[in-house]
Amino acid sequence: MLMQQQREEIAYYGRKMLHDGLTRNTGGYLSAYDREAKLIAVSPSGMPYDDIRPEDVVVVDLAGNVLEGTGRPSTEWLVPRTVFPVREDIDAIVHTHSTFATVMSALRWEVPAANFTLALAGGNVRCTEFYNYTSQALADAILEKMEGRTAVLMGNHGLVGAGKSVKQAYTVAEEIEFCCEVYLRAKSAGGTVVPLSGAQLAEMVQALGGYYHKKK
Ligand code: 13P
Ligand code: ZN
Repeated sequence: MLMQQQREEIAYYGRKMLHDGLTRNTGGYLSAYDREAKLIAVSPSGMPYDDIRPEDVVVVDLAGNVLEGTGRPSTEWLVPRTVFPVREDIDAIVHTHSTFATVMSALRWEVPAANFTLALAGGNVRCTEFYNYTSQALADAILEKMEGRTAVLMGNHGLVGAGKSVKQAYTVAEEIEFCCEVYLRAKSAGGTVVPLSGAQLAEMVQALGGYYHKKK
């Protein structure tokens, strides 16, 4: 089986994403890259996460030819197709429809460092405009707004987290969702959010970079 390890991780973390409440129904996708073989593994479009087995996870080449898997690749597969070859620090992407990130994306707000775990994204998390989820324009906007970061909000849609492995990308998405929740709840409490300074954030980027961004 091509990309067996990554496909096992995609099946496992897809189920986890649903049961952790980071998405609902069949929303979101997970993807991983074999940089040497130039192959992408991506969750199948519209298949319930509880039903996805590793062998269902779709493997495509960079031209979009399906080599293995069940059904069609995620309708958003152009995002990993666009990001992976350019961003050598990214071999996995997890896209969620998590509630607080999606609220932030409706407001088109950047996620500030209201909590130190924002450092996992490398800095303030930017937000794209709204694009059709099947479009190359969405993929291009994600690539642009995610420059120097491992996360980005998709306007009126959701969140993308990225890393060297599916596990890392999942952790980034989970923690950025938490940062969005902290920020929105703090604002709702009526106070003024005090974000980390640039120097404090840079220090945390260094610290958490070593902590989480190991290959496995
Ligand atoms: P797919 O079911 O095609 O993977 O689409 C999920 C999604 O979140 C689109 O934005
Ligand atoms: Zn989506």
